[in-house]
Amino acid sequence: MKKPRVGVDVDGVLGDLLTPCFTIAAEMFGKTFTIDDLTSWDLDSIIPKDRLDEFWQKLGEPGICRNLKPYHGAIDGMRMLGEVADVFLVTSHLHGSPQWVYEREQWAHEHFGIDRHKIVHTKSKHIFAGKMLIDDKPKNIEEWAEEHPLGIPVLWHQPYNHHMFTRKLAPRVFRTNSWELVSSVVRAMTISI
Ligand SMILES: [Mg+2]
Repeated sequence: MKKPRVGVDVDGVLGDLLTPCFTIAAEMFGKTFTIDDLTSWDLDSIIPKDRLDEFWQKLGEPGICRNLKPYHGAIDGMRMLGEVADVFLVTSHLHGSPQWVYEREQWAHEHFGIDRHKIVHTKSKHIFAGKMLIDDKPKNIEEWAEEHPLGIPVLWHQPYNHHMFTRKLAPRVFRTNSWELVSSVVRAMTISI
C-alpha cells in the first residue's frame, strides 16, 4: 500500500536555527538571549525592526545553514515517521542567502539521508499536497489547513508558538512535538483507508 505523503518543516522542527540566531543577536547587541525571550514564532521580541536586515544578512552567511544541529530525537523520529509515511521536507529558504538551498540539501542528506527530490523549497507551503504538514509556524499551519480541509495540520510544539487558532480550526490542529504521536496518527490513517 502506498504510504501517505507527509510534509515536514526543517527550521524549528528538525534543525535548531535558534542557536545561531541567538549567537548573532548576542554579537550584535552584547547580551545573551534564550528561547524564553521569544514571545512568538518570529524574532520581533529580540531583534528591533531597524536591525533586521543586518541580522538576516549575518544569518545568511556561508556555513550557518550547513552546520545547524539536528534537534535531539529528530533523526530517530524521522526514521520512525519514514516507516509509515512518504516524507518530504517542506522548507522556506532564507531570502538573500545564495547558498542556503544548496547547504540545506547537503545537510538533509548528511543527517537524514534525504535526497533533493524529496525536498520542496517554498515559502508557499499551502501548495504542498499531502495528508499532513508538520511545521512550527502557526501561519503556515493555518494556510495549509485552509487549503487542505481533509488534511491533518500539525503545529510542532515549541515554547514560542503558543498560538490561538480560530474556533473553526483549533479542533483540527494537532499540537505536539512527539514523533511517536505523529507516526501513530499516520499509521492510523493508513489502517482506516
Ligand atoms: Mg519552521
